[in-house]
Amino acid sequence: MNLLVIGGGGREHALVSKLKENRDVEKIFCIPGNPGIAKIAECVELDIMDNAALVVFAKEQKVTLTVVGPEIPLSNGIVDVFQANGLACFGPTQAAAQIESSKTFAKNLMEKYNIPTAKYAVFTQADMAKAYINSQGAPVVVKADGLAAGKGVVVAMTIDEALAAVDMMMCDGAFGQAGSQVVIEEFLVGEEASILAFTDGKTIIPMVAAQDHKRVFDHDQGPNTGGMGAYAPAPIITPAISAQVLKEIFQPTIAAMESEGCSYCGCLYLGLIMTADGPKVIEFNARFGDPETQVVLPLLDSDLVTIMKACIEGTLAGTSVNWKDEAAVCVVLAAGGYPEEYAKGDIISGIDKAEEQGAYVFHAGTAGCEGQVLTNGGRVLGVTATDSAIKQAVDKAYQAIGSIKFKGMHYRKDIAFRAIKKNAD
Ligand code: ATP
Repeated sequence: MNLLVIGGGGREHALVSKLKENRDVEKIFCIPGNPGIAKIAECVELDIMDNAALVVFAKEQKVTLTVVGPEIPLSNGIVDVFQANGLACFGPTQAAAQIESSKTFAKNLMEKYNIPTAKYAVFTQADMAKAYINSQGAPVVVKADGLAAGKGVVVAMTIDEALAAVDMMMCDGAFGQAGSQVVIEEFLVGEEASILAFTDGKTIIPMVAAQDHKRVFDHDQGPNTGGMGAYAPAPIITPAISAQVLKEIFQPTIAAMESEGCSYCGCLYLGLIMTADGPKVIEFNARFGDPETQVVLPLLDSDLVTIMKACIEGTLAGTSVNWKDEAAVCVVLAAGGYPEEYAKGDIISGIDKAEEQGAYVFHAGTAGCEGQVLTNGGRVLGVTATDSAIKQAVDKAYQAIGSIKFKGMHYRKDIAFRAIKKNAD
């Protein structure tokens, strides 16, 4: 069978690697892919927002399963268009993807169905938003309603910062239409974790819990990034908490989506915060998270193609989803200057050596040129290692990183520190 993966980052590299383990897979196409993916799949230059062209491609190439990585094609209705053409496509429909593409939709859903989350209010007028902020005080969180590439959230420690965030989103239009409506949210305190789940719209099977590291520097210092690394399983999510999250968050959310007439199928990403009052939802994403996918999928001990087909066909209840009794750690290698301005086009060396040491080197922001691999993004590579326990996986990942070099390369040296500390306590 032939498969198609949409996207071209570390998440998609991890997806392609896992899908390829299925022995019936003859060919995987990836649009647009990247030089790492190109070693194991055929990368194709096509516009991932051109649904009609993607359908033509999938039909021509006899693709039996398409897997969508990023949120933008999902909110552009790729799944709806594929379905209408009789093509199997893993991911939620445009209506269901609103759980990520509109924070107002997600918050209203949680309020209506009693799913634990931060208190909030929604505004379409800046002066009303500012009056609310003044009445609530700080700290407070200001969120652009729509998709803003992970930059639409300001955790404001002072009222002035929160007011400035409203100006930036609503008056200066920093995120265009995505910021014309804002959600102002109660500031929650607690450790965060991410849990991804497979669902066919009725059955939900959570994956191993992961934790990512959003700040750029060690000890959670410096500005936020798309994620500087991740590890799984996250010991903060004990079996009891996992059961609680399934019962109080995942199940009511999937049931709520069905009641609202937009049944959710695909991977649902839950960003959680462990407050003193129990786990609460920070955000939902309508797709696999990045870098979390780079640690979760290497731990999957079942066939990903079978699971994804079962989600689409509504037969997930009868499908086994097993996990290796191991740990995985991913360290992101970033370009100099990231998350601010950074250079592109620097030569990367040592990827093969790192792979020879047993690490997966997932390409996130790379480009190929005359046989060389060059930096082409802020987050350049995700180096993942698996081993019997977190500490061993950490050591293996950093050892492999020792072989990789490019100008300005920087990375956190403390990935998984919380898990290592918890396991030592
Ligand atoms: P992503 O890039 O993960 O999609 P996003 O832009 O959708 O991010 P959120 O995940 O909603 O944004 O928020 C980003 C970060 O802001 C969270 O990981 C968390 O650290 C912080 N945050 C968001 N909401 C709250 C809150 N209510 N209280 C405290 N911190 C929060």
